[in-house]
Amino acid sequence: MADLGTPKNTIALIQKYQFAFQKKFGQNFLIDPHVLDKIIRAAQIEEDDVVLEIGPGIGTMTQYLAESARQVIAVEIDGNLIPILQETLGSYPNVQVIHEDILNVDLRALVQEYNQGRPIKVVANLPYYITTPIIMGLFEKHVPMASITVMVQKEVAERMQAKPGNKDYGALSLAVQYYAAPYLVANVPPNCFMPRPSVGSAVIRLTCYVKPPVSVKDEALMFRLIRASFNQRRKTLQNGLTNAPELPFTKEEIGDALKAVGLPPSVRGETLTLEQFGALADYFVHQKIND
Ligand code: SAM
Repeated sequence: MADLGTPKNTIALIQKYQFAFQKKFGQNFLIDPHVLDKIIRAAQIEEDDVVLEIGPGIGTMTQYLAESARQVIAVEIDGNLIPILQETLGSYPNVQVIHEDILNVDLRALVQEYNQGRPIKVVANLPYYITTPIIMGLFEKHVPMASITVMVQKEVAERMQAKPGNKDYGALSLAVQYYAAPYLVANVPPNCFMPRPSVGSAVIRLTCYVKPPVSVKDEALMFRLIRASFNQRRKTLQNGLTNAPELPFTKEEIGDALKAVGLPPSVRGETLTLEQFGALADYFVHQKIND
């Protein structure tokens, strides 16, 4: 395998194509073979797998993926990288490069086309400016996936795996943990990238659930409650939910709901588990049906 993941080989390639890094696309290329190995091992790619890579850059990790998977689909937004990818990936018949913004790709259609709708694996060194929309888009659009193994900003990895009561616990923790089991693979320092990012990074694997660990009658309502309670972190849950413009409930109704699910009136949202948010949402659905 040609090893693009070294400073020397990356510099040679970007000089040959006079490629200029674009900050607006979050371009920090991996130049450390140990980190690349770690990501590939954590992703547990098998020979029959179809892998989606978001933002292949110059194709460094794509080559590793192509060696292990049946098919790799790599979606890259930057047109200046396409000729480079033609050179670095040209000899891999199992790689399809798509020049597009990942947020505009119909990923369910792609999974249908390349894997007959069966779960794929997502692997990426993500552009940090759109980490949350990418991850939440994958989950909320119900793209069939077995796992997501990604490099993200260290703080984001911490938020994804935080538990109730932890300072990093929030709407992202609950959303990720509703769809997947997070596992922190490794912390990665800035010197493993070119150019160096100004923040620390981490690799996290999200193993997707076939069925969410909590069953709720109205998923959208539960996430509205979650978002509203963390939008007003300092307030008690009762006040936070009463003030939320996206929720129609009165202070009294919220008080009754908290009581019904066994929570004290002074409780704060940051201490609630996914199960408790689910129970709260189910209480309101039940109330509406009985009204
Ligand atoms: N995978 C390469 C590596 O590890 O060296 C590059 C990773 S770099 C952090 C992020 C990549 O995502 C860049 O190639 C960037 O151009 C691409 N990118 C940024 N925004 C994107 C978007 N909306 N859709 C697809 N690719 C995007």
